Amino acid sequence: MNGVIIQFFHWYHEGNLWNEFTKKLDDLKNLGFTAVWLPPATKCVLGQEGRGYDIYDLYDLGEFNQKGGIPTRYGTKDEYLSAIKKAHEAGISVYADIVLNHRMGGDESETVTVHQVNEENRNETIGEPFTAKAYTKFLFPGRDRKYSDFIWDYTCFSGIDSIQKDQEEIKGIFKIHNEYGTEWNPAVSHQFGNYDYLMGADVEYRNPYVVTEMKNWIKWYLETTHVDGLRLDALKHLSVDFLQEWITYIKTELKPDCYILGEFWKQESEKISDFSDKINDMISCFDAPLHYNFFRASKDGRNYDLSQILKGSFLEKKPVLSVSFVENHDTQKLQSLESAVKDWFKPLAYAIILLSEEAYPCVFYPDLFGAEYTDTKDGEEIKVIMPKVEILPKLLEARKQFAYGEQISYFDHPNCIAWVRKGNNEYPGCIVILSNGENGYKDIELGKENADSVYRDFTGQRKDEIKTDENGKARFVVSSQSVSVWIKV
Ligand code: CA
Repeated sequence: MNGVIIQFFHWYHEGNLWNEFTKKLDDLKNLGFTAVWLPPATKCVLGQEGRGYDIYDLYDLGEFNQKGGIPTRYGTKDEYLSAIKKAHEAGISVYADIVLNHRMGGDESETVTVHQVNEENRNETIGEPFTAKAYTKFLFPGRDRKYSDFIWDYTCFSGIDSIQKDQEEIKGIFKIHNEYGTEWNPAVSHQFGNYDYLMGADVEYRNPYVVTEMKNWIKWYLETTHVDGLRLDALKHLSVDFLQEWITYIKTELKPDCYILGEFWKQESEKISDFSDKINDMISCFDAPLHYNFFRASKDGRNYDLSQILKGSFLEKKPVLSVSFVENHDTQKLQSLESAVKDWFKPLAYAIILLSEEAYPCVFYPDLFGAEYTDTKDGEEIKVIMPKVEILPKLLEARKQFAYGEQISYFDHPNCIAWVRKGNNEYPGCIVILSNGENGYKDIELGKENADSVYRDFTGQRKDEIKTDENGKARFVVSSQSVSVWIKV
Protein backbone atom coordinates (compact mmCIF):
# COMPACT_ATOMS: atom_id res chain seq x y z
CA MET A 1 0.00 0.00 0.00
CA ASN A 2 1.09 3.57 -0.69
CA GLY A 3 1.63 5.28 2.68
CA VAL A 4 0.64 8.91 3.16
CA ILE A 5 0.83 11.16 6.22
CA ILE A 6 -1.48 13.99 7.23
CA GLN A 7 -0.12 16.86 9.32
CA PHE A 8 -3.32 17.22 11.30
CA PHE A 9 -2.91 20.81 12.53
CA HIS A 10 -1.71 24.24 11.50
CA TRP A 11 -0.41 27.18 13.49
CA TYR A 12 -3.78 28.90 13.88
CA HIS A 13 -5.97 25.87 14.50
CA GLU A 14 -8.69 26.57 17.09
CA GLY A 15 -10.72 24.17 19.18
CA ASN A 16 -10.15 20.71 20.63
CA LEU A 17 -7.90 19.06 18.07
CA TRP A 18 -7.82 15.60 19.64
CA ASN A 19 -11.61 15.30 19.47
CA GLU A 20 -11.80 16.78 15.97
CA PHE A 21 -9.23 14.25 14.79
CA THR A 22 -11.21 11.40 16.34
CA LYS A 23 -14.36 12.60 14.56
CA LYS A 24 -12.62 12.85 11.18
CA LEU A 25 -10.87 9.46 11.39
CA ASP A 26 -13.27 7.62 9.07
CA ASP A 27 -12.91 10.28 6.39
CA LEU A 28 -9.12 10.26 6.71
CA LYS A 29 -9.03 6.50 6.40
CA ASN A 30 -11.26 6.61 3.29
CA LEU A 31 -8.99 9.21 1.71
CA GLY A 32 -6.11 6.75 2.07
CA PHE A 33 -4.15 8.25 4.96
CA THR A 34 -2.01 5.68 6.73
CA ALA A 35 -0.33 7.94 9.30
CA VAL A 36 -0.96 11.16 11.16
CA TRP A 37 1.46 13.73 12.58
CA LEU A 38 -0.12 15.30 15.65
CA PRO A 39 1.29 18.44 17.33
CA PRO A 40 3.16 18.31 20.67
CA ALA A 41 0.85 17.10 23.44
CA THR A 42 2.90 18.59 26.28
CA LYS A 43 2.02 21.44 28.62
CA CYS A 44 3.37 24.78 27.48
CA VAL A 45 4.32 27.97 29.25
CA LEU A 46 1.43 29.72 27.49
CA GLY A 47 -1.02 27.06 28.70
CA GLN A 48 -3.94 26.75 26.29
CA GLU A 49 -2.52 29.48 24.06
CA GLY A 50 0.73 27.58 23.47
CA ARG A 51 1.09 25.71 20.18
CA GLY A 52 3.10 22.95 21.83
CA TYR A 53 6.58 24.20 21.02
CA ASP A 54 6.97 26.40 24.12
CA ILE A 55 7.48 23.32 26.31
CA TYR A 56 7.12 23.51 30.08
CA ASP A 57 6.55 19.97 31.43
CA LEU A 58 7.10 16.89 29.25
CA TYR A 59 5.17 14.66 31.66
CA ASP A 60 2.05 16.82 31.57
CA LEU A 61 -0.03 15.81 28.53
CA GLY A 62 -3.04 17.75 29.77
CA GLU A 63 -3.35 16.02 33.14
CA PHE A 64 -2.22 18.50 35.79
CA ASN A 65 -3.33 21.95 36.78
CA GLN A 66 -0.27 23.84 35.58
CA LYS A 67 0.21 27.06 33.58
CA GLY A 68 -3.38 28.12 33.92
CA GLY A 69 -5.31 24.87 33.65
CA ILE A 70 -5.40 21.15 32.96
CA PRO A 71 -5.83 20.78 29.16
CA THR A 72 -3.34 21.91 26.54
CA ARG A 73 -4.43 23.88 23.47
CA TYR A 74 -5.43 20.57 21.86
CA GLY A 75 -7.32 18.90 24.73
CA THR A 76 -6.71 16.67 27.74
CA LYS A 77 -4.47 13.66 28.18
CA ASP A 78 -7.49 11.32 28.16
CA GLU A 79 -8.68 12.81 24.86
CA TYR A 80 -5.16 12.48 23.38
CA LEU A 81 -4.85 8.83 24.41
CA SER A 82 -8.34 8.07 23.14
CA ALA A 83 -7.57 9.72 19.76
CA ILE A 84 -4.47 7.53 19.40
CA LYS A 85 -6.40 4.39 20.31
CA LYS A 86 -9.12 5.17 17.77
CA ALA A 87 -6.53 5.96 15.08
CA HIS A 88 -5.05 2.52 15.66
CA GLU A 89 -8.49 0.93 15.37
CA ALA A 90 -8.83 2.69 12.00
CA GLY A 91 -5.41 1.38 10.91
CA ILE A 92 -3.71 4.78 11.04
CA SER A 93 -0.26 5.13 12.64
CA VAL A 94 0.38 8.09 14.93
CA TYR A 95 3.56 10.17 14.94
CA ALA A 96 4.01 12.34 18.03
CA ASP A 97 5.71 15.73 17.80
CA ILE A 98 8.59 15.90 20.27
CA VAL A 99 10.43 19.05 21.32
CA LEU A 100 13.83 18.27 22.83
CA ASN A 101 15.73 21.51 22.43
CA HIS A 102 14.39 23.85 25.10
CA ARG A 103 12.10 24.52 28.05
CA MET A 104 10.15 27.59 29.03
CA GLY A 105 8.47 28.95 32.14
CA GLY A 106 10.85 27.90 34.94
CA ASP A 107 9.25 27.91 38.41
CA GLU A 108 12.07 29.57 40.36
CA SER A 109 15.10 31.67 39.61
CA GLU A 110 18.69 30.76 40.48
CA THR A 111 21.88 32.78 40.61
CA VAL A 112 23.96 31.84 37.58
CA THR A 113 27.14 32.99 35.88
CA VAL A 114 26.52 33.95 32.27
CA HIS A 115 28.05 35.83 29.40
CA GLN A 116 26.13 37.48 26.62
CA VAL A 117 26.78 36.46 23.01
CA ASN A 118 26.36 38.19 19.67
CA GLU A 119 23.11 36.88 18.15
CA GLU A 120 24.66 36.84 14.68
CA ASN A 121 27.74 34.96 15.90
CA ARG A 122 27.07 33.02 19.06
CA ASN A 123 30.77 32.22 19.50
CA GLU A 124 31.46 35.92 19.98
CA THR A 125 31.26 37.13 23.60
CA ILE A 126 29.88 40.56 24.45
CA GLY A 127 31.55 41.95 27.58
CA GLU A 128 32.70 39.99 30.63
CA PRO A 129 30.92 37.10 32.39
CA PHE A 130 28.72 38.21 35.30
CA THR A 131 26.27 36.79 37.79
CA ALA A 132 22.53 37.25 37.39
CA LYS A 133 19.22 35.60 38.22
CA ALA A 134 17.65 33.26 35.67
CA TYR A 135 14.50 31.12 35.71
CA THR A 136 16.27 27.81 35.34
CA LYS A 137 14.65 25.82 38.16
CA PHE A 138 11.73 23.61 37.08
CA LEU A 139 9.94 21.94 40.00
CA PHE A 140 6.54 21.26 38.40
CA PRO A 141 4.58 21.83 41.63
CA GLY A 142 1.26 20.99 39.96
CA ARG A 143 2.51 17.49 39.07
CA ASP A 144 4.11 16.93 42.48
CA ARG A 145 6.78 14.48 41.20
CA LYS A 146 4.33 12.00 39.67
CA TYR A 147 6.05 9.87 36.94
CA SER A 148 9.45 11.52 37.62
CA ASP A 149 11.09 13.33 40.53
CA PHE A 150 13.73 14.92 38.30
CA ILE A 151 14.22 18.59 39.08
CA TRP A 152 15.75 20.75 36.36
CA ASP A 153 18.25 23.40 37.44
CA TYR A 154 20.90 25.56 35.77
CA THR A 155 23.21 22.54 35.26
CA CYS A 156 20.57 21.21 32.84
CA PHE A 157 20.69 24.32 30.64
CA SER A 158 23.32 25.83 28.38
CA GLY A 159 21.73 29.20 27.65
CA ILE A 160 18.74 31.44 28.18
CA ASP A 161 17.11 34.51 26.60
CA SER A 162 16.25 36.51 29.70
CA ILE A 163 18.08 37.30 32.97
CA GLN A 164 17.61 39.65 35.87
CA LYS A 165 20.38 41.89 37.05
CA ASP A 166 19.98 44.62 39.67
CA GLN A 167 16.18 44.11 39.62
CA GLU A 168 16.10 44.69 35.89
CA GLU A 169 15.21 42.20 33.16
CA ILE A 170 17.67 41.99 30.29
CA LYS A 171 16.86 40.19 27.02
CA GLY A 172 19.42 38.68 24.70
CA ILE A 173 21.21 35.35 24.32
CA PHE A 174 23.14 34.45 27.47
CA LYS A 175 25.50 31.48 27.69
CA ILE A 176 25.11 29.83 31.09
CA HIS A 177 28.33 28.66 32.72
CA ASN A 178 27.86 25.18 34.18
CA GLU A 179 29.83 22.02 35.02
CA TYR A 180 29.82 21.03 31.36
CA GLY A 181 31.45 24.13 29.97
CA THR A 182 31.34 27.85 29.45
CA GLU A 183 31.00 27.47 25.66
CA TRP A 184 28.22 26.02 23.50
CA ASN A 185 28.11 22.35 22.58
CA PRO A 186 30.02 22.17 19.26
CA ALA A 187 28.07 19.13 17.92
CA VAL A 188 25.27 21.27 16.40
CA SER A 189 24.63 23.29 13.23
CA HIS A 190 27.28 25.98 12.61
CA GLN A 191 24.80 28.55 11.34
CA PHE A 192 25.34 31.81 13.32
CA GLY A 193 28.68 30.40 14.49
CA ASN A 194 26.95 27.87 16.70
CA TYR A 195 23.21 27.19 16.52
CA ASP A 196 22.80 25.29 19.82
CA TYR A 197 20.61 28.11 21.09
CA LEU A 198 17.14 28.59 19.56
CA MET A 199 14.77 29.85 22.27
CA GLY A 200 13.81 29.67 25.94
CA ALA A 201 16.16 27.76 28.25
CA ASP A 202 18.39 25.62 26.02
CA VAL A 203 18.80 22.05 27.29
CA GLU A 204 22.39 21.02 28.16
CA TYR A 205 22.80 17.59 26.58
CA ARG A 206 26.36 17.21 27.83
CA ASN A 207 24.84 16.67 31.29
CA PRO A 208 24.53 12.85 31.68
CA TYR A 209 21.66 13.20 34.17
CA VAL A 210 19.67 15.05 31.52
CA VAL A 211 20.38 12.30 28.98
CA THR A 212 19.19 9.64 31.45
CA GLU A 213 16.08 11.63 32.29
CA MET A 214 15.24 12.05 28.59
CA LYS A 215 15.63 8.27 28.11
CA ASN A 216 13.33 7.66 31.09
CA TRP A 217 10.88 10.15 29.71
CA ILE A 218 10.65 8.68 26.20
CA LYS A 219 10.21 5.20 27.72
CA TRP A 220 7.31 6.59 29.74
CA TYR A 221 5.92 8.44 26.72
CA LEU A 222 5.96 5.42 24.39
CA GLU A 223 4.46 3.14 27.06
CA THR A 224 1.80 5.69 27.98
CA THR A 225 0.71 6.79 24.51
CA HIS A 226 1.56 3.78 22.25
CA VAL A 227 2.46 6.13 19.39
CA ASP A 228 4.11 4.50 16.37
CA GLY A 229 6.65 7.16 15.55
CA LEU A 230 8.19 10.47 16.51
CA ARG A 231 8.52 13.75 14.64
CA LEU A 232 11.52 15.48 16.23
CA ASP A 233 11.51 19.25 16.28
CA ALA A 234 14.37 21.69 15.61
CA LEU A 235 17.21 19.21 15.16
CA LYS A 236 19.73 21.75 13.88
CA HIS A 237 19.96 22.97 17.46
CA LEU A 238 20.57 19.61 19.11
CA SER A 239 23.76 17.74 19.80
CA VAL A 240 24.26 14.99 17.24
CA ASP A 241 26.02 12.93 19.94
CA PHE A 242 22.93 13.04 22.13
CA LEU A 243 20.58 12.24 19.23
CA GLN A 244 22.65 9.24 18.22
CA GLU A 245 22.62 7.84 21.75
CA TRP A 246 18.96 8.61 22.39
CA ILE A 247 17.63 7.27 19.07
CA THR A 248 19.80 4.15 19.38
CA TYR A 249 18.30 3.62 22.84
CA ILE A 250 14.76 3.88 21.41
CA LYS A 251 15.55 1.57 18.49
CA THR A 252 17.33 -1.08 20.53
CA GLU A 253 15.74 -1.01 23.99
CA LEU A 254 12.23 0.34 23.51
CA LYS A 255 10.71 0.05 20.06
CA PRO A 256 12.80 -1.19 17.11
CA ASP A 257 10.09 -0.30 14.58
CA CYS A 258 9.64 3.26 15.88
CA TYR A 259 9.47 5.57 12.85
CA ILE A 260 11.65 8.63 13.41
CA LEU A 261 11.19 11.75 11.31
CA GLY A 262 13.40 14.77 11.86
CA GLU A 263 12.92 18.43 11.20
CA PHE A 264 16.43 19.38 10.08
CA TRP A 265 15.53 22.59 8.29
CA LYS A 266 18.12 23.28 5.58
CA GLN A 267 17.78 24.45 1.99
CA GLU A 268 20.70 22.24 0.91
CA SER A 269 19.97 18.51 0.65
CA GLU A 270 23.69 17.74 1.17
CA LYS A 271 23.46 19.09 4.70
CA ILE A 272 20.33 17.08 5.47
CA SER A 273 22.05 14.04 4.02
CA ASP A 274 25.20 14.59 6.13
CA PHE A 275 23.00 14.86 9.20
CA SER A 276 21.12 11.61 8.52
CA ASP A 277 24.51 9.93 7.86
CA LYS A 278 25.63 10.98 11.33
CA ILE A 279 22.52 9.41 12.88
CA ASN A 280 23.39 6.22 10.95
CA ASP A 281 20.32 6.53 8.72
CA MET A 282 17.98 5.81 11.64
CA ILE A 283 16.10 9.02 10.88
CA SER A 284 13.98 10.25 7.98
CA CYS A 285 13.94 13.97 7.23
CA PHE A 286 11.50 16.50 5.83
CA ASP A 287 12.45 17.63 2.33
CA ALA A 288 12.74 21.39 2.91
CA PRO A 289 14.67 21.92 -0.38
CA LEU A 290 11.75 20.45 -2.36
CA HIS A 291 9.34 22.74 -0.53
CA TYR A 292 11.49 25.74 -1.55
CA ASN A 293 11.48 24.51 -5.17
CA PHE A 294 7.66 24.46 -5.04
CA PHE A 295 7.66 27.92 -3.47
CA ARG A 296 9.87 29.36 -6.23
CA ALA A 297 8.00 27.54 -8.99
CA SER A 298 4.73 28.96 -7.69
CA LYS A 299 6.11 32.52 -7.74
CA ASP A 300 7.87 32.30 -11.09
CA GLY A 301 4.92 30.87 -13.03
CA ARG A 302 5.80 29.84 -16.57
CA ASN A 303 9.32 31.24 -16.20
CA TYR A 304 10.21 28.38 -13.85
CA ASP A 305 11.88 25.42 -15.52
CA LEU A 306 9.64 22.58 -14.43
CA SER A 307 12.12 19.96 -15.63
CA GLN A 308 14.32 21.02 -12.68
CA ILE A 309 11.61 20.74 -10.02
CA LEU A 310 13.30 17.86 -8.15
CA LYS A 311 16.79 19.29 -8.52
CA GLY A 312 18.59 19.60 -5.20
CA SER A 313 15.79 17.90 -3.30
CA PHE A 314 16.33 15.38 -0.52
CA LEU A 315 13.92 13.14 -2.47
CA GLU A 316 16.53 12.96 -5.23
CA LYS A 317 19.40 12.52 -2.77
CA LYS A 318 18.05 9.92 -0.33
CA PRO A 319 14.53 8.97 -1.43
CA VAL A 320 14.07 6.24 1.17
CA LEU A 321 14.62 8.69 4.04
CA SER A 322 12.79 11.67 2.59
CA VAL A 323 9.37 12.95 3.54
CA SER A 324 7.89 15.32 0.96
CA PHE A 325 5.49 18.12 1.78
CA VAL A 326 4.08 21.20 0.08
CA GLU A 327 3.46 23.39 3.11
CA ASN A 328 3.56 23.25 6.93
CA HIS A 329 2.76 25.22 10.09
CA ASP A 330 6.05 27.17 9.87
CA THR A 331 5.86 28.05 6.17
CA GLN A 332 2.19 29.13 6.10
CA LYS A 333 1.46 32.85 5.78
CA LEU A 334 2.50 35.06 8.74
CA GLN A 335 4.68 32.32 10.27
CA SER A 336 8.39 32.25 11.07
CA LEU A 337 9.57 30.56 7.87
CA GLU A 338 6.84 32.04 5.68
CA SER A 339 7.23 30.69 2.16
CA ALA A 340 3.66 29.84 1.24
CA VAL A 341 3.30 27.99 -2.06
CA LYS A 342 0.81 29.89 -4.21
CA ASP A 343 -2.62 28.32 -4.63
CA TRP A 344 -2.42 27.77 -8.40
CA PHE A 345 0.68 25.59 -8.04
CA LYS A 346 -0.55 23.37 -5.19
CA PRO A 347 -2.29 20.81 -7.45
CA LEU A 348 1.00 20.39 -9.35
CA ALA A 349 3.05 20.11 -6.17
CA TYR A 350 0.67 17.59 -4.64
CA ALA A 351 0.68 15.54 -7.86
CA ILE A 352 4.47 15.38 -7.60
CA ILE A 353 4.60 14.26 -3.97
CA LEU A 354 1.55 11.96 -4.09
CA LEU A 355 2.12 10.20 -7.41
CA SER A 356 5.92 9.87 -7.70
CA GLU A 357 7.43 6.47 -7.05
CA GLU A 358 9.70 7.10 -4.11
CA ALA A 359 8.12 9.93 -2.15
CA TYR A 360 6.59 9.51 1.30
CA PRO A 361 4.16 12.44 1.20
CA CYS A 362 2.76 14.54 4.03
CA VAL A 363 -0.44 16.52 3.38
CA PHE A 364 -1.03 19.77 5.29
CA TYR A 365 -4.36 20.12 7.14
CA PRO A 366 -5.53 23.43 5.54
CA ASP A 367 -4.90 22.08 2.04
CA LEU A 368 -7.50 19.39 2.75
CA PHE A 369 -9.93 21.27 4.99
CA GLY A 370 -9.23 24.95 4.31
CA ALA A 371 -8.40 27.56 6.97
CA GLU A 372 -9.02 31.18 7.85
CA TYR A 373 -7.10 33.18 10.41
CA THR A 374 -5.96 36.62 11.45
CA ASP A 375 -2.62 37.72 12.89
CA THR A 376 -0.59 40.89 13.11
CA LYS A 377 2.55 41.54 11.15
CA ASP A 378 4.57 44.74 11.54
CA GLY A 379 1.70 46.16 13.60
CA GLU A 380 -0.85 45.52 10.89
CA GLU A 381 -3.72 43.05 11.23
CA ILE A 382 -3.82 40.64 8.33
CA LYS A 383 -6.53 38.13 7.45
CA VAL A 384 -5.45 34.99 5.63
CA ILE A 385 -7.72 32.62 3.74
CA MET A 386 -6.27 29.26 2.76
CA PRO A 387 -8.73 27.60 0.39
CA LYS A 388 -8.90 23.83 0.15
CA VAL A 389 -6.94 22.34 -2.72
CA GLU A 390 -10.07 21.08 -4.50
CA ILE A 391 -8.29 18.40 -6.52
CA LEU A 392 -6.53 16.92 -3.47
CA PRO A 393 -9.03 14.12 -2.67
CA LYS A 394 -8.83 13.02 -6.33
CA LEU A 395 -5.04 12.95 -6.21
CA LEU A 396 -5.15 10.97 -2.95
CA GLU A 397 -7.54 8.53 -4.61
CA ALA A 398 -5.17 8.27 -7.59
CA ARG A 399 -2.35 7.49 -5.18
CA LYS A 400 -4.44 4.76 -3.60
CA GLN A 401 -5.69 3.19 -6.83
CA PHE A 402 -3.14 3.84 -9.60
CA ALA A 403 0.25 5.25 -8.61
CA TYR A 404 2.15 1.98 -8.39
CA GLY A 405 5.05 0.30 -10.07
CA GLU A 406 8.15 1.49 -11.87
CA GLN A 407 8.33 5.15 -12.88
CA ILE A 408 9.46 6.40 -16.30
CA SER A 409 10.04 10.15 -16.23
CA TYR A 410 9.75 12.66 -19.09
CA PHE A 411 11.20 15.74 -17.42
CA ASP A 412 12.25 17.11 -20.80
CA HIS A 413 10.48 20.44 -21.27
CA PRO A 414 10.63 23.62 -19.13
CA ASN A 415 6.82 23.98 -19.01
CA CYS A 416 5.53 20.43 -19.34
CA ILE A 417 6.66 17.26 -17.58
CA ALA A 418 5.15 13.81 -17.30
CA TRP A 419 5.80 10.44 -15.78
CA VAL A 420 4.37 6.99 -16.26
CA ARG A 421 3.71 4.64 -13.36
CA LYS A 422 3.75 1.21 -14.93
CA GLY A 423 1.52 -0.48 -12.35
CA ASN A 424 2.12 -3.88 -10.76
CA ASN A 425 0.27 -7.18 -10.32
CA GLU A 426 -2.38 -5.57 -8.14
CA TYR A 427 -2.71 -2.03 -9.47
CA PRO A 428 -2.98 -0.67 -13.01
CA GLY A 429 -0.66 2.38 -13.09
CA CYS A 430 -1.25 5.85 -14.60
CA ILE A 431 0.27 8.66 -16.65
CA VAL A 432 0.74 11.97 -14.82
CA ILE A 433 1.26 15.16 -16.84
CA LEU A 434 1.85 18.71 -15.54
CA SER A 435 2.03 22.11 -17.16
CA ASN A 436 3.06 25.43 -15.62
CA GLY A 437 2.52 27.24 -18.93
CA GLU A 438 0.22 26.80 -21.95
CA ASN A 439 -1.73 23.66 -22.76
CA GLY A 440 0.88 20.93 -23.05
CA TYR A 441 1.34 17.45 -24.46
CA LYS A 442 3.74 14.55 -24.34
CA ASP A 443 4.14 11.70 -26.83
CA ILE A 444 4.49 8.56 -24.77
CA GLU A 445 5.06 4.98 -25.81
CA LEU A 446 3.33 2.56 -23.44
CA GLY A 447 4.25 -0.65 -25.23
CA LYS A 448 2.32 -3.21 -27.26
CA GLU A 449 0.47 -4.44 -24.17
CA ASN A 450 -1.32 -1.07 -24.19
CA ALA A 451 -2.08 -0.97 -27.94
CA ASP A 452 -5.48 0.35 -29.03
CA SER A 453 -6.48 1.34 -25.50
CA VAL A 454 -8.61 4.22 -24.30
CA TYR A 455 -7.49 6.60 -21.54
CA ARG A 456 -9.38 9.21 -19.56
CA ASP A 457 -8.31 11.84 -17.05
CA PHE A 458 -9.07 10.54 -13.56
CA THR A 459 -8.99 14.07 -12.11
CA GLY A 460 -11.72 15.25 -14.50
CA GLN A 461 -9.65 18.29 -15.56
CA ARG A 462 -9.81 17.06 -19.17
CA LYS A 463 -12.98 15.63 -20.64
CA ASP A 464 -11.45 14.18 -23.84
CA GLU A 465 -10.49 10.55 -24.41
CA ILE A 466 -7.08 9.50 -25.65
CA LYS A 467 -6.51 6.40 -27.77
CA THR A 468 -3.19 4.62 -28.17
CA ASP A 469 -2.21 3.35 -31.62
CA GLU A 470 -1.37 -0.21 -32.61
CA ASN A 471 2.05 0.18 -30.92
CA GLY A 472 0.65 1.59 -27.66
CA LYS A 473 1.73 5.14 -28.44
CA ALA A 474 -0.36 8.26 -27.81
CA ARG A 475 -0.16 12.00 -27.32
CA PHE A 476 -1.19 12.73 -23.71
CA VAL A 477 -2.37 16.26 -22.98
CA VAL A 478 -2.71 18.67 -20.07
CA SER A 479 -4.47 22.03 -19.77
CA SER A 480 -2.66 25.27 -19.03
CA GLN A 481 -1.18 25.45 -15.49
CA SER A 482 -2.82 22.20 -14.52
CA VAL A 483 -2.39 18.49 -13.89
CA SER A 484 -4.01 15.46 -15.48
CA VAL A 485 -3.78 11.81 -14.43
CA TRP A 486 -4.56 9.52 -17.34
CA ILE A 487 -5.86 6.02 -16.58
CA LYS A 488 -6.82 3.16 -18.87
CA VAL A 489 -10.58 2.80 -19.16
CA1 CA B 1 20.16 23.37 21.72
